[in-house]
Amino acid sequence: MIPQTDLQWQQTDWQQGLRQAFRDPAELLAWLDLPTPEQDALLAACQDFPMLVPRPYAARMRPGDPNDPLLRQVLPLAEEMTPTPGYVDDPLAEQDANPVPGLIHKYQGRVLWITATGCAVNCRYCFRRHFDYDGNANGRRQWQPVLDYIAADADIEEVILSGGDPLLHQDAYLAQLVTQLERIPHVRRLRIHTRLPVVLPQRVTPSLQNLLRETRLRPVVVVHCNHPAEIDVATGEAFLALHQAGATVLNQTVLLRGVNDCVDTLAQLGEALFDYRVQPYYLHLLDPVRGAAHFDLPLEEALSLYDALRARSSGYLVPTLVRERAGAPYKVPQFGIN
Ligand code: SF4
Repeated sequence: MIPQTDLQWQQTDWQQGLRQAFRDPAELLAWLDLPTPEQDALLAACQDFPMLVPRPYAARMRPGDPNDPLLRQVLPLAEEMTPTPGYVDDPLAEQDANPVPGLIHKYQGRVLWITATGCAVNCRYCFRRHFDYDGNANGRRQWQPVLDYIAADADIEEVILSGGDPLLHQDAYLAQLVTQLERIPHVRRLRIHTRLPVVLPQRVTPSLQNLLRETRLRPVVVVHCNHPAEIDVATGEAFLALHQAGATVLNQTVLLRGVNDCVDTLAQLGEALFDYRVQPYYLHLLDPVRGAAHFDLPLEEALSLYDALRARSSGYLVPTLVRERAGAPYKVPQFGIN
């Protein structure tokens, strides 16, 4: 049965939700009735990558539980500052695939446009946590070189808006950008990678829905959801609203130790997404980015977990397990042990 939505949650101002986000770990921990660990360690981790947590997302965390899977994704920890061999600032060598500022061209037929230099939430495992956003700042005045690059390559059929989170922009700004892309005849698909519908579901506004409904480009929205507890009623309704606006809605998950390294959790996530018309798409192995080693699972453990998930869930609820490798022409599927 399709869950019904009255869209009341859309009336809330998403920008106000952003302004009120938690930026101080001590404040978030106090709000969750948790003790604050040693300040110096927190400070160092925050300086390396600031904390940012919208309150609607924090409201889904369990008070008093330091191991809450949502809290673990966003709370800076001292271990982030422990150097780990192989964990680097640019694990996917994106600097080598950055022909013009704001554009990454890694795969044939599609390009990634860094339209925003920030996010609504700072995920501690993010492979772009050290990305050179300053060198890729891409406001309206810097659009033309990106558009020229896309227009000059008739192979490019798909433009992926990424960041940062492209939905940090106002709908009017996004509409102007989409209009520019629509003028390039060989561009057929618009893909938006975003975590905003998960952490601040009121971002899925009626005008965003109209934009998706009216563009001549085939819209695909990839939400980034890692745990079933991230999907409350408002989030589910935001997913459904994207689907009802005509977007193909997919989900990608990062496999994270202490967050979702459990077959029940992954199975429940697939079911909850599908209830709201979101198709499980990718289950990513962690990219080895500096500061995130504590989230990693050995490959054997990941494969064994994936096998158990495949035995447990219908095939269409099981995302493809992949690893991204610098320079590879596609995300490399990882197969189970059987
Ligand atoms: S929302 Fe996406 S890009 Fe932003 S910090 Fe999280 S994982 Fe990284």
